[in-house]
Amino acid sequence: MPKHRSFWLQEVAGDAPDALPLRGTAEADVAIIGGGYVGLWTAIRIKEQAPGCDVAVLEQDICGGGASGRNGGFVLSWMSKLSSLARLFGIGEALRIARRSEAAIGDIADFCQRHQIDADFRKGGWLWTATSSAQLEAWESVVRHCEENGVAGFQRLAPEEVARRAGSRAHRAGVYIEDAAVVQPAALARGLRRVALELGVRIFEHTTVRKFTRSHPVTLQTAEGTLVAEKLVIAMNAWSASIRELSRAIAVISSDIIATAPAPAQLAQIGWHKDLSITDSQTMVDYYRITRDSRVVFGKGGWTIAYGGRIGAEFDRHARRAAEVTADFRRYYPQLAGVPISHDWSGPVDRTPDSLPVLGYLGGRKNICYGIGWSGNGVGPSVIGGRILASLALEQNDEWSWHPLVGRSVVGFPPEPLRFLGAHLVRAAVASKERAEIEERKPSALAVQLAKLAPAGLEDKK
Ligand SMILES: Cc1cc2nc3c(=O)[nH]c(=O)nc-3n(C[C@H](O)[C@H](O)[C@H](O)COP(=O)(O)OP(=O)(O)OC[C@H]3O[C@@H](n4cnc5c(N)ncnc54)[C@H](O)[C@@H]3O)c2cc1C
Repeated sequence: MPKHRSFWLQEVAGDAPDALPLRGTAEADVAIIGGGYVGLWTAIRIKEQAPGCDVAVLEQDICGGGASGRNGGFVLSWMSKLSSLARLFGIGEALRIARRSEAAIGDIADFCQRHQIDADFRKGGWLWTATSSAQLEAWESVVRHCEENGVAGFQRLAPEEVARRAGSRAHRAGVYIEDAAVVQPAALARGLRRVALELGVRIFEHTTVRKFTRSHPVTLQTAEGTLVAEKLVIAMNAWSASIRELSRAIAVISSDIIATAPAPAQLAQIGWHKDLSITDSQTMVDYYRITRDSRVVFGKGGWTIAYGGRIGAEFDRHARRAAEVTADFRRYYPQLAGVPISHDWSGPVDRTPDSLPVLGYLGGRKNICYGIGWSGNGVGPSVIGGRILASLALEQNDEWSWHPLVGRSVVGFPPEPLRFLGAHLVRAAVASKERAEIEERKPSALAVQLAKLAPAGLEDKK
């Protein structure tokens, strides 16, 4: 049966023939596992700096077939993680990291323009909202942190203005962040693939890396071939949970999305500007934006949980989750009740305990590096990931190889099966708490306590 694809991947289907799988024995200077944003940005940055470097990308599916071709297409910075960054690195470094992540948004726009990638990049800002009284002022600590440090990132809006911009009174308060954009995510991934090929990167699709040696050089084993490489870059997102050394750094959860049929007239009527992306402040965050052809794409984070790195078909599509996401969409936009749902899909998210990525050398080996844990905010930050991983692979001594996120230690999740069982318990508590809050009921004390064990969210809240 053909793999279930996102609306975005369906839209760009047939843009280029699939690359052939790796067959037989080959060599490369740098092997990259994963043809998503992180792997492709890394390959491109390596080639830009060292055109003679022989780079091979090995992708089990097609490039963009993972999270990069399925996401919501929100291009956000790490400014909403300023409190976490300040806790880890001090406010000065935190501001530098957050500002660089804002610049990454512009980098994507420039790159797309320079290489004529039609990824529908639109910079229209992000509205971070509250849709229940429990969510009110969720952004307060971050906004205050910014204000105290002279960062004018967040605009406080009157509640009526939030409802007006979001096109629905379900939005009771919020702040607006100008430095945010939306893209057609699969078009961006496929554009990166094209540029990588033009720069001479060798791409092998339908090529699953089954194992690799922790040695120098590294030998990678695939179904039909073997690749021997001086350096290895692991850009496998959620699938890296199957790698022993990385398995406890991330928990794999799904994010589930629906898309409506085009509804230009109805959207114009409710007044939601086409370029504006919106989230609520739930832990199982609802996120929504409008496509080029006036569909609403509405997603919800945090539902299906993977055991270890086992990411099955339920991470491609899940009917029950789609129904739950649809219910949230209908609740927020009753005025769009007549607009049918045309697509639904899912994808895996590599969540770290603090929702910031981890990058470094695998087991301290200087010839094997990794960049994982984008935690549902990877479209913009993967630009930084690509720069860091390219510098590590090329053994550069620069601002990227010395980036504070490199080699940081994270308090890991518990091992399996404890993590799987614990995650189900915490998820049930979060779901029960947030359902009660949306319905303005008091959640149970147990649900409130257990929900506190959930990993930090996409943003630092309260
Ligand atoms: C439904 C959903 C919505 C999201 N919404 C947003 C959003 O709006 N904004 C945002 O910033 N982020 C969002 N994210 C997160 C974002 O998509 C990711 O952080 C980003 O795509 C990470 O890029 P990546 O290259 O690490 O991962 P991927 O694109 O998943 O790339 C990893 C690749 O590795 C391949 N691979 C894995 N194992 C192997 C192997 N053994 N051999 C060969 N290849 C292998 C996979 O097939 C995959 O293509 C969302 C994620 C999901 C799932």
